[in-house]
Amino acid sequence: MELKITCIPGDGIGPEIVAEAKKTLDAVAEKYGHDMHYTDILMGGASIDVHGVPLTDEAIETARSADAVLMGSIGGDTTTSPWYKLAPNLRPEAGLLAIRKALNLFANLRPAVLYEELAQACPLKTDISARGFDMLIMRELTGGLYFGERKTVEENGVRKAIDTLTYDENEIRRIAIKGFEIARKRRKKVTSVDKANVLDSSRLWRAVVEEVAKDYPDVVLEHMLVDNCAMQLVKDPAQFDVILTENMFGDILSDEASMVTGSIGMLSSASLNDTKFGLYEPSHGSAPDIAGQDKANPIATILSASMMLRYSFDLDKEADAIDNAVKQVLKDGYRTGDIMSVGCEQVGCKKMGDLIVERIK
Ligand code: NAD
Repeated sequence: MELKITCIPGDGIGPEIVAEAKKTLDAVAEKYGHDMHYTDILMGGASIDVHGVPLTDEAIETARSADAVLMGSIGGDTTTSPWYKLAPNLRPEAGLLAIRKALNLFANLRPAVLYEELAQACPLKTDISARGFDMLIMRELTGGLYFGERKTVEENGVRKAIDTLTYDENEIRRIAIKGFEIARKRRKKVTSVDKANVLDSSRLWRAVVEEVAKDYPDVVLEHMLVDNCAMQLVKDPAQFDVILTENMFGDILSDEASMVTGSIGMLSSASLNDTKFGLYEPSHGSAPDIAGQDKANPIATILSASMMLRYSFDLDKEADAIDNAVKQVLKDGYRTGDIMSVGCEQVGCKKMGDLIVERIK
């Protein structure tokens, strides 16, 4: 298969971790007979330094013409970097918002997996962490409260702020379809999270999700109120497979789910549109404090590349090869500094990439 991939190395540790992810993709391509074609574009601070803007129209067009985008991370030290003296629309993060909008990336996927070998990093009680967990939060990314009308007014000398939470059935249907499709590639369970006991938008959400569920009789659907879900994530995270939810609930729950894994350098993510196209990136930032020192953990980016193979290219066997190689490296006792523990061997970013590649071959 021919795969056209646009890469965004970005800033900070971005170029280091993207290089390792490309190395793993190349190993998979060699083993399974695929052709990977990479084109790099500039985004964030790297683009500001060259073009004066965090993302050019040409870069967007290059990304659009690819089958998928693999990104490292963007941004610098927000207190010392000159990029943060620029107007907000010219700062590094504006590039990310612009590319999400230009490519209509409305579905955000964040897996939260607790690896047995890293269980000591999990802040939950040992009887809970011992059961492990492997869930995926599917968050609607372009609608809801964050995109509704907002204003602040003054009435009779009292300041009043208004935000609007709106969803139409088409916005709900397209993310629900993504949720069920992805559950089919996993353990076939969707937990749809809403606040249907209070909000009209949630009642519509629940109704549309139930309509979509009829096309997926092999997937189990359950509904959960968001406040209960926040509790269940720390009480019994093993119960979840795919959590399907709207923008703000997903924002909060995905951070909570990430935190309970305890390892930021391990968390991948994807943002998809209504085709197979997606932008894949680690959940963490550009870690300027360790940039250029071969200290970064490349695993979140490598697992993002695995998600790309699975969700944009339907190459499940190849994605499994990467996921299993990562598990094997952890089992063999290798760790980067961020996940180091007693009795393990500490390695740098490049060496971690090499060890994963060896286990793919
Ligand atoms: P961060 O995630 O970059 O770093 C937080 C801490 O985690 C740091 O101590 C860092 O060294 C460590 N860390 C992060 N990733 C790691 C990895 N792969 N391996 C080892 N250690 C790792 O968050 P921050 O410091 O708040 O932000 C730094 C910059 O990143 C900011 O400019 C911020 O805006 C940007 N950012 C970008 C994205 C993105 O590109 N999508 C996301 C979040 C933050």
